[in-house]
Amino acid sequence: MSRDKADIWCPECKWRPTPECRWVCTPRCGTVWNTFWTRGVCPGCAVKWTHTACLACQKFSPHEAWYHHRDPDAGAQVADPASLEA
Ligand SMILES: [Zn+2]
Ligand SMILES: [Zn+2]
Repeated sequence: MSRDKADIWCPECKWRPTPECRWVCTPRCGTVWNTFWTRGVCPGCAVKWTHTACLACQKFSPHEAWYHHRDPDAGAQVADPASLEA
């Protein structure tokens, strides 16, 4: 079982949700759950929430934007000079 070690935090304010945090599937089925357990999928009606509201700053961000993957090769240059050509 390979689980990626992504940090989860709000891309707007860097608030980190805790396991105790809850989101509500509204106005749909009203299920209350932690959306990061299911990667944004409501366990009640199976709808996938592509955007997740921050409980701290109230802003919606794409669910995937909350995951910040740590590069195992920290320090490696990602930018390719050739890709900078206009
Ligand atoms: Zn639902
Ligand atoms: Zn936020």
